[in-house]
Amino acid sequence: MSSATRPYLLDFYPLEDEKYTRIAPFFIHLRAGRLTTTKCERDGSVHWPPRVACPNCHGTQLAWVDLPRSGRLYAFSALYLGLPLGMEQDAGAVVGLVELGDTHIKIFSRITGRKYEEIHIGDAVELETFDIDDGRVFYRFKFKV
Ligand SMILES: [Zn+2]
Repeated sequence: MSSATRPYLLDFYPLEDEKYTRIAPFFIHLRAGRLTTTKCERDGSVHWPPRVACPNCHGTQLAWVDLPRSGRLYAFSALYLGLPLGMEQDAGAVVGLVELGDTHIKIFSRITGRKYEEIHIGDAVELETFDIDDGRVFYRFKFKV
């Protein structure tokens, strides 16, 4: 029987290093507490998630811009079944779409700090970064108190 120490099945960014991904600056900024994404220098569009080419004009001249660290819950749900390998103990975990500040951007994320029954659409949340035990960094949102 094998074992797993962390959830690999939903591990979208196994390699954050600039040697492996051109969006490495996102993780460098995140480690410093900044939530950033790319903005096209040709047409001004702001993307989420960060891109290596603009989805509108296919330009590759992109700049990194800061996003608001807080937002409001646009939609949410809780995970009780079918949790990824290694997350079985997290049954009931809340996930949701966070609408950032006054942007058009909605980020899907884990939401921590309250039980599903205590949550409402429109609740204020803020960014929280955290270290993963293998040295990487990632983000989630928590409820403002
Ligand atoms: Zn563009």
